[in-house]
Amino acid sequence: MSNTGGGHKASADAIKAAFEEKYGNKYEITIVDLWKEHTPHPCSAMPDTYSFLVKNAFLWWFTYTTSNPRLIHVPYLTAVSFIVSDGLNQAFDLYQPDLVVSVHPLMNHIPVRIMEERIKKGSMPPTNFATVVTDFTTCHNTWFCPGATRVFVPTSYCRDLAVQNDMHPEQVVLHGLPIRPVFTRRLPPRPKLRRALGMDTELPAVLLVGGGEGMGALEETVSQLDAKLGDKAQVVVICGRNQKLQKRLRARPQGPGHLKLVVTGFVDNIHEWMGACDAIITKAGPGTIAEALICGLPILLNGNVPCQEEGNIPYVVDNRVGAFETRPAVIASIIRSWLLEGGEGMREEFADMGRRSKALGRPQAVYEIVHDLADLANEPYFDYGPATAALLGDRGRHDLG
Ligand code: UDP
Repeated sequence: MSNTGGGHKASADAIKAAFEEKYGNKYEITIVDLWKEHTPHPCSAMPDTYSFLVKNAFLWWFTYTTSNPRLIHVPYLTAVSFIVSDGLNQAFDLYQPDLVVSVHPLMNHIPVRIMEERIKKGSMPPTNFATVVTDFTTCHNTWFCPGATRVFVPTSYCRDLAVQNDMHPEQVVLHGLPIRPVFTRRLPPRPKLRRALGMDTELPAVLLVGGGEGMGALEETVSQLDAKLGDKAQVVVICGRNQKLQKRLRARPQGPGHLKLVVTGFVDNIHEWMGACDAIITKAGPGTIAEALICGLPILLNGNVPCQEEGNIPYVVDNRVGAFETRPAVIASIIRSWLLEGGEGMREEFADMGRRSKALGRPQAVYEIVHDLADLANEPYFDYGPATAALLGDRGRHDLG
């Protein structure tokens, strides 16, 4: 994985937790940020570079679209693989994996290429490589490396993209996004949960998040919610790694006439916060959307990272599990109509949105993925390309049965 945003790390954690739950200590799972821990500068700065780019919409759009064609990124990644090969070879020597799982779009072509070389040289036994796509719909083509043994995708949209990128349909498996197993556990009754989280037990509650980085117009949204809902509701703001935002929000006026505001930094128990709230306002992050669906929350999307999150907006709107609105004043009006004064019709529609959301959630996907990964860890049938396949005979070929 690599810690760009929060979704890749969350998916890696989900897979590790599900492995441990299902198989105890039969498998040793090591989560590694290959870029940060095993490549030289400037490659090791990739997570910070992402953090910078993604906050500058045009730069991110430009980087994403220019690198999306395979004609561009395949030679580019091949060139990068020469720069990082020493580090990655050391990592493979260190971890000696029985299976390599990537949950990052920039962690497929390079390790697959290096693994192919190692296997050719005999410095690594035949080892499968699986990609678990952590984007929901629209996603970058670097996710799809035909040399990988399997790619696990969350939606049929992604499955089609994989095939368009030359993956054999049988290499592509659709289960859903891997969400942490804690999301399948029963929570304490809501009043008890809310008390434990420092929330009001009665007031309608909305959760406001901006992915792992605390992105988007969160502060302006809080101001508008304060103006339009006053002390009739409570808002929980999860600021992720955005510490400045956390500080500013804590300094806001509270008390009579104002929203009850609960502000936190990055939390490890977001499932509890989702379980304690009635609706969520979030950017169109795939992880957060998939989690909110499992929790049966109506979702108000307030923005998106350009390109890879664009398709998540119609996914939410067309499935009638929420709405998309970027203007904080209108967001506050929608939330007011959802939670406070929508009348009988709106109350029913709000409840239906919650039911549809729950029905769309895939809490079992992580277990299905882990079941398949365990098979891959036990059966080496990595496709090493024609030259190595000839060298290895049958062991080097896909066994897709
Ligand atoms: N997350 C979390 N704690 C926080 C903020 C975010 O665990 O305080 C998790 C969130 O539950 C989700 C992930 O970080 O699993 C964010 O992923 P998403 O795909 O929504 O957005 P990204 O941050 O990757 O752009």
